[in-house]
Amino acid sequence: MPAPTMENYHVADTVQLNGLTIRKAVHAGYCWGVERALEMVEETAAARADDRVRTLGPVIHNPRVVESLERQGVSSIDTLDEIDSGTVIIRTHGVPPEVYEKATAKGLDVVDATCPLVTLVQRKARQLVDEGYHLVIFGNPQHPEVIGTLGHAGASGTVIQRPEDARQHQFPKRVGVVVQTTQETERLSELLAILAPRCKEIKVFNTICNPTIERQEAARELAHQVEVVIVVGGKGSSNTRHLAEVCREEGTRTYHIENAAEFEASWLEGVRELGVTAGASTPGWMMDELIERIRGVAARATAPRPAT
Ligand code: SF4
Repeated sequence: MPAPTMENYHVADTVQLNGLTIRKAVHAGYCWGVERALEMVEETAAARADDRVRTLGPVIHNPRVVESLERQGVSSIDTLDEIDSGTVIIRTHGVPPEVYEKATAKGLDVVDATCPLVTLVQRKARQLVDEGYHLVIFGNPQHPEVIGTLGHAGASGTVIQRPEDARQHQFPKRVGVVVQTTQETERLSELLAILAPRCKEIKVFNTICNPTIERQEAARELAHQVEVVIVVGGKGSSNTRHLAEVCREEGTRTYHIENAAEFEASWLEGVRELGVTAGASTPGWMMDELIERIRGVAARATAPRPAT
C-alpha cells in the first residue's frame, strides 16, 4: 500500500458506518501560511543540498512533519549560537529584529518564512507604539509569535494571556491592542470589556488571522452537530489547543490527540455522531488517517463474534 498522501488517501467529509456518522470540520488542517512555509523549507533544502539547512525552532508544531523534514536533511536548532555557517530558516511565528541582526553578523543565509499575517501584527504593534499608545498584546507571553511582535514594537508593552489578568494591571489613558493570530475571538471580546472602563482611549487591531477564525467557527459548528469531537495535531500548537477549547466551551466531549494511534475504542461507546477537526499545523492526511482508524475501531466493535 502506498504511503498516505493528500492525493491517494482522501476520504469523504461525512462517513457513515454501522450507525456511526463521522463528520469532518468544514475548515481544518493546514492554513496557507504553514503551506507556504513548508514549501519554502522544501525548496531551500532541495536547492542547497550541499549546505546545512536548519530551522530556528521546529518549523511547525507537528512532530511527525518535523521528523519527515529531518529525513530530507532539515534539522532544527534552538538558538543561533548552535551554528556558524549555512542557512537558517525563520518559521511562520517570526522573530525579534535582533535575531536577523545576529544571523547577518554571523554570515548565515537567512530564509524568512514568517507568515505575512504575523508580519502584519508586528507592523501594527510598531504603529501603535509610534502613535503613542501603550501596547497591549493579547497572547501567550512564552509564544515565539508574541516574543517576536514585542521585539518589533521596541520591547515596550504589556502581554495579557487571559482576559481576567487585565484586572491586575494599571493602564495609562491610551492603550493600543494587537492580538496573537491564533487567539479566540470571544476571549478578545472579554478582554476589551475589561479594558474599556480602565482606559480613556483604546485602539484595537483585531489581528486574529482568517484561517484561525474559519477553523474555530467550523469547530464550534461541528461541536453542535456531534456528541464527541477529536482534535488531531501537535500538543505544542496553540491554534490546535484553542480548537479543543472551543469545542469544550460548547459542552461537547473533546479529545486532543497527536496521532491516530492515540484514539481509544472506549471513546465510541454509545456514540452515534463523532466529529474530527485539526489545527493549522496538521496535514490533511493525518486527519484522514484518524478517520480510517475510527472506521476500523467501529467496524471491529460491531463485527459479529465468532461462534465458540
Ligand atoms: S495560523 Fe494564521 S498567522 Fe499562523 S501561519 Fe497560519 S495563516 Fe499565518
